[in-house]
Amino acid sequence: MAVIIDGKKISQQIKDELKEKVEKLRMEGKTGALAVIQVGADPASSVYVRNKKNACAYIGIESLAYELPEDTSEDALLQLVEELNGKEEVKGILVQLPLPSHICEDKVIQAISPGKDVDGFHPQSVGAMAIGEKGFLSCTPAGIIELLKRSGIEMEGKRCVVIGRSNIVGKPMALLMLRENATVTITHSRTKNLPEICRQADILIAALGKPRFIGAEYVKEGAVVVDVGIHRDENNKLCGDVKFEEVEKIASAITPVPGGVGPMTIAMLMNNCVQGMEEEPKA
Ligand code: NAP
Repeated sequence: MAVIIDGKKISQQIKDELKEKVEKLRMEGKTGALAVIQVGADPASSVYVRNKKNACAYIGIESLAYELPEDTSEDALLQLVEELNGKEEVKGILVQLPLPSHICEDKVIQAISPGKDVDGFHPQSVGAMAIGEKGFLSCTPAGIIELLKRSGIEMEGKRCVVIGRSNIVGKPMALLMLRENATVTITHSRTKNLPEICRQADILIAALGKPRFIGAEYVKEGAVVVDVGIHRDENNKLCGDVKFEEVEKIASAITPVPGGVGPMTIAMLMNNCVQGMEEEPKA
């Protein structure tokens, strides 16, 4: 039976460490706020936004909430981002996605100053990550690396297969695994012989967004399995991309859903905010 990787516990440790760091920074006169912008009132987004505000309150940084109506124009949103870019006390700007369809997400992401891009989605942040330069790392993939490190799972020289190539999970995940000296394969919906490729993985990262898709036939005996997916099943219960009960029997370690990758995303967002506070003021 696999070891269950406790993302909730590890994320709590990280938040406690950050809380101490924030207190020390405060004594050095370094403070700052995270600006959280939500357009519309999508219920799932509201839960994510609330969790982010609560995490800020826990570690002791201010959060500035901008709750804009669904019919906010793209220009008005871009103007707000521009204003926040210019405010010294704002160290991080987060625009909750998805945005209503009349607003171009890429345009908004690109309007955020890279120095305040705590989600790590700006092309400059992604580019910096790709070439190993300093910048904000995309929170979910960075959280997975931290989860593996703190669980004592070696990545160097290991064969890692990432299922999914999205800009926010699959691609940055593969780049960060490469940075850890893993040998990385990226797979996607056009990949042929997916189970066979996945069975070569020492570390399998499932980020395909398909509920309970990955069963035992995708997993090598003793592999580490990271489940990024979040879904509600027919009974309204949370589940991931992996058939947990089946895979748990053959993996050496596995992340559960809920309580695996999810809590790490917010912990890493907080880590990015603190990183923003530590750096020189930017506008
Ligand atoms: P996405 O944008 O829909 O991307 C899914 C990727 O999986 C695509 O690259 C797609 O390939 C690939 N794919 C889809 N079906 C496949 C199949 N049958 N075989 C192989 N590859 C397949 O999703 P995402 O934003 O990356 O998110 C993935 C999952 O993670 C979702 O469930 C999401 O809710 C969850 N998520 C969780 C967190 C967290 O904090 N825990 C954060 C972000 C996302 P193509 O490129 O060929 O279409």
